Amino acid sequence: MNYAKKSLGQNFLIDKNIINKIVNLETIFDRNVVEIGPGKGALTVEILKKKPKSLTLIEKDFDLFNELKLRYSNDKNIKIFNSDILKFDMKKIKEKNLIIFGNLPYNISSQIHVKILKCCKGPQEISDIIFMFQKELADKIIGIFPSKSYGRLSILTNYRLKFIKKFSVSPNCFFPKPKIISTVLHFKSKKNLSYNLKKIENLEKITNIFFSNKRKMINKTINKVLNKKKLKRISNLNLMLRPSELSPETYYKITELFEKG
Ligand code: SAM
Repeated sequence: MNYAKKSLGQNFLIDKNIINKIVNLETIFDRNVVEIGPGKGALTVEILKKKPKSLTLIEKDFDLFNELKLRYSNDKNIKIFNSDILKFDMKKIKEKNLIIFGNLPYNISSQIHVKILKCCKGPQEISDIIFMFQKELADKIIGIFPSKSYGRLSILTNYRLKFIKKFSVSPNCFFPKPKIISTVLHFKSKKNLSYNLKKIENLEKITNIFFSNKRKMINKTINKVLNKKKLKRISNLNLMLRPSELSPETYYKITELFEKG
């Protein structure tokens, strides 16, 4: 069947070199793999050639799900879900130490990234994440401090993930051709976290509060999350700074204090 649904961000990979470059980022042999949005299976086929221990596919499009089901129904190591990844209960995946691949639908790729980030409780759960994003979003996700791309997404990502590698993908590598340049990002889960937050959702909340007042100095915003006593425990915090001028560690520290009673 030759069709693509724009609403589901369907731009299928057709360039063999790029497909191989993606699946060769990490050793797949005997590992538990998940693919988000397998579509017509361009990545799936190459992942399977490398003989993973298990493969879980999550595809929202019912027609594509059916095609995959027909193709792989005899393989007991392949599980296929016809689900929206944003509503999918990740606890259904019982395997551990996962490598998660996804040439993500662009319209919801940021939400998918944050969802996976929240499930990522360390390498024993998710070891590697290999996602393709629109270039501008990828820049924000790995934006270092201080830089123009630094912000909410990079603070959140850097808390749990270690950035390993990236490369660009031209629109010519897809059918239909998107209007944008893409970037593949490879992350590994951090083994040891320097701050042990109770809930990554609190970090999300704190960064949302600060960055929704992006141009304002932090002196007023900080009162919304910390009382004076807690504030004193962050040494040398300059309240005249703007949210993008605080380091990731400062946000982790603020969240840690916020979580304390
Ligand atoms: N992996 C294939 C490839 O590289 O050719 C397809 C990638 S295409 C950019 C994105 C895929 O994600 C499509 O197959 C689309 O149907 C699927 N998709 C879109 N929204 C989804 C969602 N919310 N949950 C799961 N899959 C979704």
